[in-house]
Amino acid sequence: MVQGQVQGVGFRPFVHHLAGRLGLTGSVANTTDGAAIKVQGQAEQLDRFIELLVREAPRLARPVVTLVKSLAVVDGEMDFHIQASLMSADRKALVTPDAATCPDCLRELNDPADRRYRYPFINCTNCGPRYTITFDIPYDRPNTTMGRFEMCPDCRREYEDPANRRFHAQPNACPVCGPKVWLENTDGKRLAEADEAVRQAVRRLEQGEIVAVKGLGGFHLAVRADRDEAVECLRQRKYRKAKAFALMVRDITTARRVAQIGPAEQALLEGVERPIVLCYKLSDAPVSEQVAPRSRWQGVMLPYTPLHHLLMEGDYPALVMTSGNNSDEPIETSNTGGREHLGAIVDVLLLHDRPIYTSCDDSVVRVYDGEPMMLRRARGYAPQPLFLKRRSNKNILAVGAELKNTVTFIKGENVFVSQHIGDLKTAPTHEAFLRTIDKLGALIDARPDIVACDLHPAMLSTQQAQSYAGVRLVPVQHHHAHAAAVMGEYNLEEPVVAIMADGVGYGTDGRVWGCEILTAWRNRFERRAHLEPVAMPGGDAASWEPWRMAVSYLLQALGPDEGAKRARSLLSMIDVADIETVATMVKQGFNCPMTTSLGRLFDAVSALLNVCTHNTYNAQAAVELEYIAGETITPLSYAINVDSASPVHILRTQSMIQQIVADMDRNVGPKEIAAGFHAAVIDGLYRSADMTAQQDGIKTIVLGGGVFHNDILLSGLHRKLQQNGYGVYFNRQIPVNDGAISFGQAVVADAINDN
Ligand code: ZN
Ligand code: ZN
Ligand code: FE
Repeated sequence: MVQGQVQGVGFRPFVHHLAGRLGLTGSVANTTDGAAIKVQGQAEQLDRFIELLVREAPRLARPVVTLVKSLAVVDGEMDFHIQASLMSADRKALVTPDAATCPDCLRELNDPADRRYRYPFINCTNCGPRYTITFDIPYDRPNTTMGRFEMCPDCRREYEDPANRRFHAQPNACPVCGPKVWLENTDGKRLAEADEAVRQAVRRLEQGEIVAVKGLGGFHLAVRADRDEAVECLRQRKYRKAKAFALMVRDITTARRVAQIGPAEQALLEGVERPIVLCYKLSDAPVSEQVAPRSRWQGVMLPYTPLHHLLMEGDYPALVMTSGNNSDEPIETSNTGGREHLGAIVDVLLLHDRPIYTSCDDSVVRVYDGEPMMLRRARGYAPQPLFLKRRSNKNILAVGAELKNTVTFIKGENVFVSQHIGDLKTAPTHEAFLRTIDKLGALIDARPDIVACDLHPAMLSTQQAQSYAGVRLVPVQHHHAHAAAVMGEYNLEEPVVAIMADGVGYGTDGRVWGCEILTAWRNRFERRAHLEPVAMPGGDAASWEPWRMAVSYLLQALGPDEGAKRARSLLSMIDVADIETVATMVKQGFNCPMTTSLGRLFDAVSALLNVCTHNTYNAQAAVELEYIAGETITPLSYAINVDSASPVHILRTQSMIQQIVADMDRNVGPKEIAAGFHAAVIDGLYRSADMTAQQDGIKTIVLGGGVFHNDILLSGLHRKLQQNGYGVYFNRQIPVNDGAISFGQAVVADAINDN
């Protein structure tokens, strides 16, 4: 018996080949649980068979041999055959993620003698679209968006031949029978078809034009990355001032010219999942400074569809390939949507007629300590399940957080974390959220018994959760969910101390939490320490205008009069009248919710140093503060005080802010102050967590929250905890940010259900 990912990945033909090679007879069949194999032959050949079954498995297969037993000898068996699978059996088969073009297909793509020479939809059993084109199980052509393309006799022959590498490759196609590309201008006029369309798109890219490219999980906006004016034009038309763009480069050699690529980065770049890999920038990279301004990082990816490979033949070192959407909206997937919503941004559109059923953004990964760490989990990974050690007896749906939303289903021992959906702030994102629940739920055939959601009563996702009839509703506090997400990923059963370095999460007291030390079990938690609450002038507006937080922190640290005075002198880029207004708001407590957010503290310091006073994208102030701090290692010059007078400890920042102001008066540079600030946060979080852990006799610490995207904070705190004997865990398979919340909610709901 072989379990894991063995269906729809060419596993049975592979078993057929392998048995033939080793002279074994018998059969292979798909069952509800995986693949059942019967083989007969010499003992040593049988051992070899089991060994090679895993070692030489097809590219997309993840076989796990779960049961080996002896059967009675069958007399007269002459061959090895593939048994037709039973329809009912296939209900449990998992849909696999989309996979990057394989080397065999790439060879054919570049072979002038091949019938698929330069065909942008070439694929086989080992590669091509899966999740994004499938609308029902079993994974079979009529249940995919390829159903509308009737296979030509040549394609059908390949598809039906167990020995062919396109045997049961559902998206199999060729220029005769398959999808086609064309190039359109923004008036809807067709400019070119098929290969000529691709060649013209390349020429336009070479000239610096912006091209909308319909891809695998949605549209990209493409522009050559080495010309300032081209990249700036894209920024202007997309209203995207500063947030970094990802690059696509043709191969690993070119990747090494734009960023620092270690062995782990290379493995990720070349893997079948083909995520965007965040790497350290190279200062002499042949790309415009406008691609990733004021950031240490450059996102890089390699081509993952045949169409990308063809586009990368152009005479440019790299293309900006950014999601084809308007800001805060989901990625466009249909030709109509592309024309309507991207027409104003691009010069031409490269379209095709293979519909995208499920949208999937590019995944984003980085390497930390030699291992991958997921920052955005989507194409190439979804809907591949994570495995739980324990089996849940109920189907659970968790609807996730408001920002960086994902949803999670637990079914048996499988956890399905959806692809990244986005911020549930606009109607189109909210629709995408509802669609994902419906589509993923249908694909894995899981009707929820329990629905988990956030504590916040007004959140749209909470209201959605409440709308399910006849299910048990489990509201979960945001930071408890962060902690449980780590416990779930690492199968931690004992209580842990959780350090939350986060932006916003609704607390049990109705306030905005964000910098929290918890003692957490799977089914409950205790708040043990937090940052001292501070006013957030204007509420949400403060997260887009970090200077407001600087005013607020100055008032808290220096008192209302001195604080307002110093705000006027230090925040030189901000209008004095605006500072007065905000200072008055804080003094009167008008429209000033209190927060313990760590993200807002980073904002305050970033603005105070005039590094970033206004965010044009989420967390820009923190990203740029980290960039300014660079790699300077500083002795601790500031301190966050842990006030342990009350049962719930308070982390106080007044003296640190006072010292920073004093240093600014002494003309200490922003780099030194930023580095010192990072060191103080690491130290404060460490001491507070250490105190809690010692009191509770706990040696395991979990880290969670989006502020851990900050590499200085993550690595500094991680090392310090390890050096002091703690076991330290944080999410790697799913993001450390709010992309983890749905999984954490599901873990909590499962634990509560168990009690
Ligand atoms: Zn292939
Ligand atoms: Zn064909
Ligand atoms: Fe969070």
